[in-house]
Amino acid sequence: MIAPDLQTAIDRLRALIEASDVIVPFTGAGISTECGIPDFRSPGGIWTRMAPIPFDEFVSSQAARDEAWRRRFAMQDQFAAARPGRGHRALASLYRGGKSPGVVTQNIDNLHQASGIPHECVVELHGNTTYATCLECAKRYELGWVRDRFDRAGGRAPDCPDCRGYIKTATVSFGQAMPQHEMDRAQGLTLACDLFLAIGSSLVVWPAAGFPLMAKRNGARLAIINRDPTEFDDIADLVVRHDIGTVFEPLIAA
Ligand SMILES: [Zn+2]
Repeated sequence: MIAPDLQTAIDRLRALIEASDVIVPFTGAGISTECGIPDFRSPGGIWTRMAPIPFDEFVSSQAARDEAWRRRFAMQDQFAAARPGRGHRALASLYRGGKSPGVVTQNIDNLHQASGIPHECVVELHGNTTYATCLECAKRYELGWVRDRFDRAGGRAPDCPDCRGYIKTATVSFGQAMPQHEMDRAQGLTLACDLFLAIGSSLVVWPAAGFPLMAKRNGARLAIINRDPTEFDDIADLVVRHDIGTVFEPLIAA
């Protein structure tokens, strides 16, 4: 059912949560918009104005790597200032209360971890933009380290001092394979839950589209909380089209 008003949405969501033992939230950009993180894919979003740099370009062109890092640093103020929103905090409450073993997210903003969910309980399907890794040896680099070298080299992206590999934010780019380990973990959580909460995702980008259906077919209940309709609304037990932060605020535990 589609919640007819905000109070009904909150009441039904709370009832579903109270009736469930294993809750797996699946989050997309909509949970982070109140935190000042732009929704890249939305109409008017960054990617409709500036095409993302595909992975094969990144690895084949120094100019592409320079441009990728220039763009990343241009957005650093937004990412660095972002704090968890009401949705993140409510999900952290579910985790602390033993109701939720972990979160699956399409987001790259690190806000679930910042809300207090341990990093090993956050499955990041598209990676994380708040740090970088070497594409060859997988060594982790902090953004401040990259920026320092980038600036000193006049805007040239640095390579890994250990192995000369290319250093890239720890995100999954267009044209880059989905991380199999994360996909496996997401599937494991999806099949273990009795309530699947799809929050702030349009559920059209693969592989996001597969998980709500997988949960539902496995017998879990499905709630979809998203500003716009999704193609899974018909099979959902609850559809909420109100503001995510407002809906989840009453579920934040002190
Ligand atoms: Zn390396």
